[in-house]
Amino acid sequence: MTTEQLLEYDKKHIWHPYTSMINPLPVYPMARANGVYLELEDGRQLIDGMSSWWAVIHGYNHPHINAAIERQLKDMSHVMFGGITHRPAVELAQKLVDITPDGLERVFFSDSGSVAVEVAMKMALQYQNAKGNPQKNQLLTIRSGYHGDTWHTMSVCDPDTGMHTIWNGRLPIHFFVDAPQVKFGQEWNPSDIKPMREALEAHHQTIGAIILEPVVQGAGGMRFYSPQYLKEVKLLCEEFGVLLIADEIATGFGRSGKMFACEWAGITPDIMCLGKAITGGYMSFAATLATAEVAETISKGNPSCFMHGPTFMANPLACAAANASLELLMQSSPIGKVKQIEAQLERELAVARTFGGVADVRVLGAIGVIEMRQPVDMATIQREFVEAGIWVRPFGKLVYVMPPFIITPSELSRLTAALIEVVGRIKN
Ligand SMILES: *Cc1c(COP(=O)(O)O)cnc(C)c1O
Repeated sequence: MTTEQLLEYDKKHIWHPYTSMINPLPVYPMARANGVYLELEDGRQLIDGMSSWWAVIHGYNHPHINAAIERQLKDMSHVMFGGITHRPAVELAQKLVDITPDGLERVFFSDSGSVAVEVAMKMALQYQNAKGNPQKNQLLTIRSGYHGDTWHTMSVCDPDTGMHTIWNGRLPIHFFVDAPQVKFGQEWNPSDIKPMREALEAHHQTIGAIILEPVVQGAGGMRFYSPQYLKEVKLLCEEFGVLLIADEIATGFGRSGKMFACEWAGITPDIMCLGKAITGGYMSFAATLATAEVAETISKGNPSCFMHGPTFMANPLACAAANASLELLMQSSPIGKVKQIEAQLERELAVARTFGGVADVRVLGAIGVIEMRQPVDMATIQREFVEAGIWVRPFGKLVYVMPPFIITPSELSRLTAALIEVVGRIKN
């Protein structure tokens, strides 16, 4: 197949994320990837600004993760998890229990972020049921959130930018309050938590859990909010007998400048969802961690077990990749590296604040966001980024980068320079 034939077949037969099958946007044929570079079939090398959606924190084709997967492949690439356990799973559980906030010590493995969130929501409601509160079967969340694409995760995504309009009347009804307004780094204003308190006062009898992305709201708007908000939410959860589910699928493993974004607030949620970077971006995998109290209460209830069990639960290859990725994280003091990336993004993206088309520039950890005044023309801007030698994929008004942590200062400068050049051409 020539590259043209490949693209032609792709266009006719393959869905891409959120894509029309009659009028699809162009896709770029990728041949291989190494370090921070993506190589197109025509040999062009692009600096990766996306970490393949938050996931590839150590870069592509990493020798340590490769070796771990190769070793595991020869031992056992997969085995069912019913009635069986294995070293890769146990070692991974141990690492996750060790590095996540104190108190999270029961681990449920699954195969993607959305499933990890489904599992968390089921855990929360099964917990309330076992506690004798079957009426506490709804969720409360904040606007501008994103928690996945499956049916119930959709129902807690932002009701305006999410898919509520299309599915009006068919999604389960949950409670929404306005997203926090006090930004990360701004002085706390106690009125910010009022909507959450009011919602709980009015509806706590029917609310089983609050679900949110701690400190960084990702795909729902790339917003960074005050950690004090998270602290207040945790206190409200205790006051009203509601569990807190922290969705750290995007923020986990150092991205926000802490190993987990919950650490900004010094809180332990009752349930935490992990995914994306958990395997260093090597394969689809996720975990839902819970406190002993949640796990034991569920197990004392009826039925006396947690009702979930995916076919590929704790897949050994994925566990081996995750173990290797976590070893790299533990060895490399990632937070120091993320802080350097943060400082450099601050310096090099600042100029965009002077551009007419730009509404806001914000940076936290290894995440840099340029918010435009108008939605960008995806096909055009994507082509311009590729021509400038970088891989950046905006959505709506948000042009953002979150490079692999291994990016060098000079590579990061090339990424930001190309980004600034392309964004600077957009007049408004
Ligand atoms: C990406 C993401 C999910 C969904 O994960 P998938 O692996 O795409 O199913 C859920 N929550 C958050 C915060 C995410 O960023």
